[in-house]
Amino acid sequence: MVDKFYFTHAVYEIHGAYREYLKGNRGRPKFRRKYALGQTVTTSFTNSNIAVNAHDSTISLPYLNKEKRLKVIQHRPIEGRIIGTKITRHVTGDYYIIILCEVEMADLPQNENYVGIDVGVKVFVTSSDGTSYPALKALYKQQRRIKRLQRSLSRKYKGAQKKSKQEKNVPRSKNYLKAKAKLARAHEHIANMRTDTAHKISKEIICKNQAIFAEDINVQGMLKNHHLAKAVSDAAINSLMQKLAYKAQWHGRVFLKVCRYFPSTQICPHCGYQNTELKGMQGLRIRELECPQSQVHNDRDSATAVNILNEGMRLWQEGGGPRPRGGMPRSQACGALKELVEAGSPSALADG
Ligand SMILES: [Zn+2]
Repeated sequence: MVDKFYFTHAVYEIHGAYREYLKGNRGRPKFRRKYALGQTVTTSFTNSNIAVNAHDSTISLPYLNKEKRLKVIQHRPIEGRIIGTKITRHVTGDYYIIILCEVEMADLPQNENYVGIDVGVKVFVTSSDGTSYPALKALYKQQRRIKRLQRSLSRKYKGAQKKSKQEKNVPRSKNYLKAKAKLARAHEHIANMRTDTAHKISKEIICKNQAIFAEDINVQGMLKNHHLAKAVSDAAINSLMQKLAYKAQWHGRVFLKVCRYFPSTQICPHCGYQNTELKGMQGLRIRELECPQSQVHNDRDSATAVNILNEGMRLWQEGGGPRPRGGMPRSQACGALKELVEAGSPSALADG
């Protein structure tokens, strides 16, 4: 049983997918196989077809009969106006109902804290005020378990294939599907751990600080380096950046990215001397160093965070001083730096 929005949203989704494909951001949209375990259905709110009863934790959906209500585990109360809902079946076989609501966001009380953050693989976040968050290393911790489950699935693959010839590539081996679900669950657990950490860290940073400056890291580029790829994807840097950006907008904070060609790792925060010898992989390996000009011992991560803070404050003031909402767009920040390069300023001589 489907409602009219089922088709509307399918059109929206294929439109979005092709738009991203034609922009070159994503691959060509693929047909979803009928027997694929992961499935999604989206619908919009109309004539109170979606209703949540908090007392007995039930929900009524347009896909169900009018009288029939579904028992759910509700993990937070519904606030605001319901816009739509998305029902997904994960590969693990669990069903999730996501309810999209429109809520008025209130700004957090203003304060005078400004912070620069450096994200990394060993220490996930180092901020210029001295706090740091260690790397979660979710995949690294679960690696042995994943390996074992993957081997177990691989052993069952032959059985699944043999039977599939009879029935249009449908894997008929129950044990194969069970092993697949187990592996998927393990991967999902890791993904959940990462999302949870990113949410907690971003929330804390946003609550504490009025303006947050971070480096515009080229994660895609780092993933191409296979010495770094695993550790970088395990850290989920992009996810943290996205969460910081939208939470800053929600709560009336400033989140600004410093251009990726700003030599944040090379400058000594005490005297401004730029050590051009620190580059690439070699630069990554050095954790702390002595400045040849002022003889001050700098920890690499916290020095970077302080440099990002200084550069971010400079860009922010150039962009018109304190702003009530959002941050300066990335291209504008890069443009400001480009002008400096043309003017021949020593601080803008980047290694990139
Ligand atoms: Zn120095």
